Amino acid sequence: RELSNASLTSLPSEVDAPRYDRTALRGGIVHFGVGHFHRSHQAMYLDELMRRGQSMDWAVHGVGVRPADEGTRNRLAAQDHLYTLTVKEPDGSRRNRVIGSLLSAGYSPQDPTGVVERIADAATRVVSLTITEGGYGIDQVTGEFTGDSAPIRADLDADVPNTTPFGLVLQAMRLRRDRGLGGLTVMSCDNIQENGTVSRAAFLGFAGMKDPELARWMEQEVSFPNSMVDRVTPATVDADRAYLERTFGYRDRWPVTAEPFHQWVLEDAFVAGRPPLEDVGVDIVGDVEPYELMKLRLANGTHQALCYFGFLLGHRYVHEAITDPDVQALLLRYVDEEAVPTLKPIAGVAFRAYGRTVVARFANPEIQDPLTRICADTSDRIPKFLLPVVTAQLADGGPVGVCAAVVAAWARYAEGTDEQGRPIDVVDPRRDSLMAAARRNGDAPTAFIEDRSLFGTLAESPRFVEAYVEALRLIRTGGVRAALRQIVAAPS
Ligand code: NAD
Repeated sequence: RELSNASLTSLPSEVDAPRYDRTALRGGIVHFGVGHFHRSHQAMYLDELMRRGQSMDWAVHGVGVRPADEGTRNRLAAQDHLYTLTVKEPDGSRRNRVIGSLLSAGYSPQDPTGVVERIADAATRVVSLTITEGGYGIDQVTGEFTGDSAPIRADLDADVPNTTPFGLVLQAMRLRRDRGLGGLTVMSCDNIQENGTVSRAAFLGFAGMKDPELARWMEQEVSFPNSMVDRVTPATVDADRAYLERTFGYRDRWPVTAEPFHQWVLEDAFVAGRPPLEDVGVDIVGDVEPYELMKLRLANGTHQALCYFGFLLGHRYVHEAITDPDVQALLLRYVDEEAVPTLKPIAGVAFRAYGRTVVARFANPEIQDPLTRICADTSDRIPKFLLPVVTAQLADGGPVGVCAAVVAAWARYAEGTDEQGRPIDVVDPRRDSLMAAARRNGDAPTAFIEDRSLFGTLAESPRFVEAYVEALRLIRTGGVRAALRQIVAAPS
């Protein structure tokens, strides 16, 4: 049996299938990047509304612009754009539910005009995006649109820019303006701080280079809400498909799996209306920033705090590292003593409890999240997730010992061998300079933190340097386990 509209009613009762009339759905959203995350998050929230008989006119037309999206299009088209969301509980049980909110999944190189017309359609009121952090052509430091990627440059040079979301949306906006239709909302759901501000810079920056007059129209007519999104969604593997077929006797070519936790905090800035997402648990707020800081410092920061120590101790997955009592003790000190005091209060949110939720989430053994994923590209991560905590604590005279120890563990990791002498594959855009600095850890113990483009002036902060040098000495001389215990036991 194949998953399809026709087979929905005959699925086993353990699979929670949509009962609403899918023929009554109408598209209201065009989404770029129908990858894993969109399907476990935004599409799931919309399906939830539809199950309540709401938002039948907010279904999603997906668009992919990259070669890999052709396969997605084919797999989803073969099953009426239905797919199973398998939620993996920490106890090994699974909840399976079929999501019905997706109407199509187009592949834009095959029909760019169709995509442009879809966005220009009066029924489309939101264009949403999960095109990855690197998809926006933004300079990481200045936040300015540089267009510095091959597809964006190709679109900037083309008479008819068909290659990227920026080009396709620009064409659609011209049609909307010329047809007397208003603008719409561009809603990024990518994991980027101030993702709305970044989207605005990208879409208006692109438009400004191609058609300044249209860019001015878009500035008035298009809104770019910020959002904070969260749900660990690993890439689907063959075993996920095999599990559905074996357990429930149906074939799903493109299921998605996720952890139980999900969160979406969304700025209320929609120029052409929005679905009532607050009815299904989305926090609609005036200012997303305090939530972003919470997530960056408590969730992403915790990932960094565990990954180098965890890897050096011989763990290979997040859940293994976080259930190591010494690692967990360090994390809880990081959360409670160093990270939480730097956050902006949010009414109704208890940060320490959120920190405990993060620990419980990361301990889920069903989400096989490799530590190498979290250790990769550290030079992009530590400056965003951990160093702002250090800066805030230094300004306040607060503790920095745990953060300093985490940076020291990174410096030790970047030496490129573990305690047994086995090589560590340091994956980082700055790999060469990081490893060169780490090779000097023994005789020049501050060498690693002297790179101002990463660490600012931290190497000039006596308190940070003292804690860092001591942690590095402990790790390098007494071994990682003993060092970790001493660091955790030290007074703050
Ligand atoms: P995925 O690889 O399954 O899908 C990525 C999609 O983005 C694909 O459709 C791809 O074609 C498209 N894409 C990639 N680069 C692009 C570019 N330069 N221009 C246009 N489209 C591009 O990945 P995913 O798991 O869906 O994650 C996508 C994004 O979602 C992440 O980068 C992150 O910002 C956000 N996110 C993911 C998770 C997660 O756990 N997977 C959690 C929170 C947020």
